[in-house]
Amino acid sequence: MLSCAAVETAPAPVRLVPLGGLGEVGMNCLAVETPESRVVVDCGVLFPGGEAALGVEIITPDFAHLRTPGPPVAAVLLTHAHEDHVGALPYLLREHPDASVCGTRYTLAVVKEKLAEHGISPRFVEMSPRAVTRVGGLEVEPLQVTHSIPDAVGYALRTPAGVVVHTGDFKVDWSPPDGRLLDVRRFAELGEEGVACLLSDSTNAEREGTSVSESQVAEAMARIFGAPYARGRIVVATFGSNIHRVQSVVRAALQHGRKVCLLGRSMQQNVRLALEMGYLRCPPELFVDPEVADHFAPRELAVVCTGAQGEPHSALSRLALGEHPTVKLEKSDLVILSSRSIPGNERDVANLIDHLVRRGCRVLSTMGDGGELIHTTGHACQGEQRMMIDLVRPRSFVPVHGEFRMLAAHARTAEAAGVDPRGCLVAEDGDVIELRAGQPAAVVPGGAAAGRIYLDSRGAFADVGEVVLRDRKLLADSGMLVCLCVLDRKSGALLRDPELLGRGVAGLDETRLAQARSAALAALEELLPAQRTDHASVEEALRRAVRSVFKKGFEKRPMVLPVVLEM
Ligand SMILES: [Zn+2]
Ligand SMILES: [Zn+2]
Repeated sequence: MLSCAAVETAPAPVRLVPLGGLGEVGMNCLAVETPESRVVVDCGVLFPGGEAALGVEIITPDFAHLRTPGPPVAAVLLTHAHEDHVGALPYLLREHPDASVCGTRYTLAVVKEKLAEHGISPRFVEMSPRAVTRVGGLEVEPLQVTHSIPDAVGYALRTPAGVVVHTGDFKVDWSPPDGRLLDVRRFAELGEEGVACLLSDSTNAEREGTSVSESQVAEAMARIFGAPYARGRIVVATFGSNIHRVQSVVRAALQHGRKVCLLGRSMQQNVRLALEMGYLRCPPELFVDPEVADHFAPRELAVVCTGAQGEPHSALSRLALGEHPTVKLEKSDLVILSSRSIPGNERDVANLIDHLVRRGCRVLSTMGDGGELIHTTGHACQGEQRMMIDLVRPRSFVPVHGEFRMLAAHARTAEAAGVDPRGCLVAEDGDVIELRAGQPAAVVPGGAAAGRIYLDSRGAFADVGEVVLRDRKLLADSGMLVCLCVLDRKSGALLRDPELLGRGVAGLDETRLAQARSAALAALEELLPAQRTDHASVEEALRRAVRSVFKKGFEKRPMVLPVVLEM
């Protein structure tokens, strides 16, 4: 009797629902749900990258789960302003306009500008590390972390099932350019207090040891700027958001008497914000406008630009192709690709390097044989991940921010650190992690709707969809044949012989086209006049006839598109 009553009154679990980021590095998005509240941690995009993109520019999480019955989305808590954490905000806010957007000062400044471009102005709640704010019925405390962008934080969330700690993206860097350290003391205090569940960044879970400090990149930059081979212009390409890296280049430029010219819209925007808000320290007269960059001798100029991933139309690819009006790269110029190629972009980066080398530039990249340390990761390696687990000592552990093997490797680290193996959960998007006070977390596989939305171009909200993607893949794979015929509207009489047009079909010659034409004609003649006034019948007959010609001798069958005109 008693136990039955206890079961009836057992409180509903707190549910952690990953909508993205568990199974991929990108589109990070986690819903945290209690019976009374629903908040979302991060809301990012994934970039498809490379040739497999099929015209898709960004991928966002499918937010169907947030439309299911339950409390409204009260807030989105942002860990930092990288696109894989904030890029999908406009799409979420369109459906949940009343959700507050919470984050630190710099994060909100970046996000405000992005949302303004979409004509969206939600309620913003600025937060500071260690300051507890009540959001959607939960007490939320930002925790200062180090990462490759200013003002990054993790979060401690006080839920009815205990404290949940989310690290956000982090690394441990004891000498970051802004002197802003990981708040070790706060993470340790939370660990003492008792943490029900830790969710932690898995990006580098397969890399042993610890990450290298940004200060070592700064030293390498200074050495390169002073090297005998740095006689001409120096171009440093990195992500626009990597203000720490810009700071390293600025220092080297100051030390070696070069002016700095910024190229690329996101670079200019991010640097302007960082200067205005004091996250980048630099005398304003150091910067020169791109319009007057050619007034300076090559050895007086450093260019900091976007495009290190080989993105077409980026500042660096324009430089590589000689398309920039005032900065013309030439022999003896030095180009430093100060970032790691994201998997999928290697081909684009290699092509970009070829273009630069063809112009006579010397290129330093992480693809090359190393030498100077021109880049460091913004994510914790195994040693730092282990340190985080040791500090927080959670009852349960959920690796986030990674492809499946990275999550699995991170879970092994947690087990080695002594976390109860029953509480080390490798979950994927759409699984539901249930937390109950005093118990290890449990996973309900596939307990929530999750998926991907493929978008054609930024801001247009054009959902490409699976069917279109399948068609694009088929077209790219096998090509297309258009079969055109003209019929009399009333009688169904054939007014012109069918015409055939092929695009991208390998081995297509005049003989085969003629065969297809006669097959189409024969198929039309076989139809009764009444059938010929029915579009669907005519299209099906044409499709079948043309396909039959490509059955033999063709490994890949092209897509056949019948076009029926009525006169
Ligand atoms: Zn990040
Ligand atoms: Zn990230």
